[in-house]
Amino acid sequence: QFSENKFYLQKKDVVDRHISFSRFSHKGDFGRVLLAGGSYGSMGAIKMSAEAALRTGSGLAACLVPQCGVNIIQIALPEAQVLSAESENNLGKSYPQDSLKRFDAIGVGPGMGTNSDAVSFLKDFFTRYHGPKVIDADAINILAKEKELLNELDENCVLTPHLKEFERLVGACTNHKERLSKSMVFSKKYRCIVVLKGAHTCISFPDGRQFFNSTGNKHMATGGAGDVLTGMITSFLGQGYSVENATLCGVYQHGLAGEIASVYKKRGTIATDIVRAIPKSYLVLKI
Ligand code: AMP
Ligand code: MG
Repeated sequence: QFSENKFYLQKKDVVDRHISFSRFSHKGDFGRVLLAGGSYGSMGAIKMSAEAALRTGSGLAACLVPQCGVNIIQIALPEAQVLSAESENNLGKSYPQDSLKRFDAIGVGPGMGTNSDAVSFLKDFFTRYHGPKVIDADAINILAKEKELLNELDENCVLTPHLKEFERLVGACTNHKERLSKSMVFSKKYRCIVVLKGAHTCISFPDGRQFFNSTGNKHMATGGAGDVLTGMITSFLGQGYSVENATLCGVYQHGLAGEIASVYKKRGTIATDIVRAIPKSYLVLKI
């Protein structure tokens, strides 16, 4: 803590927030999560989110993608189940709606696109699913265009914008101080958690607390790194962590995995390297 309501997020802040599982745990205990997104030419985003969820420890991960993504996901990530929307290239309003209730947590947005099909999918999704969820990437870009959807946000929502996505949502900011104060205002107004991503990712809670992350490095500034974070937070939500604990543990450990992936401070670290480093990050945390 460095001033009232402002905290520097460190290892000691996350270790006690983790749940430990019994020797007799079965895969249901580790949670079933769904990652919804992907579109023609952007299927890797949802694959990386789902893979990150599995590497974080989810018992089951499924992807909801348009038809063109089914074979891609099955081949690229055989551990994941695949659900398909009826439309070919983008998620649309016809998809297996009844399946949503099978999941303990859902991440939505990576690679999803913002066309009218994707918009109608997101509208339908918000009216049907009120459980814990991470809202990222194009799902945020759609919220920025369809402002009435903001009323669907609540305390079960974690928004994970990077700086540009955040400014699309709240309008242009002149400096980072303004972004930090606007993210707090947004979190209070819509009662959701806002994860403003960057070098020291800032997590704002509706009660006014802000946490600044201490892990990670510049080699994480690479395509797909944010999709990995979405999978990690969704995984912790599915494992039964509170929305607050899932977010803090996810952000901290994502940075830790990024540090491990680029252990010699090497350029050329890619998002999949971060995914592969997630199991090792548990060793560092000794959990
Ligand atoms: P995205 O732009 O959605 O792919 O998200 C990028 C991810 O990489 C976020 O989790 C950021 O916090 C992280 N990241 C980007 N740049 C840096 C940096 N310079 N230092 C630490 N983490 C970073
Ligand atoms: Mg992103």
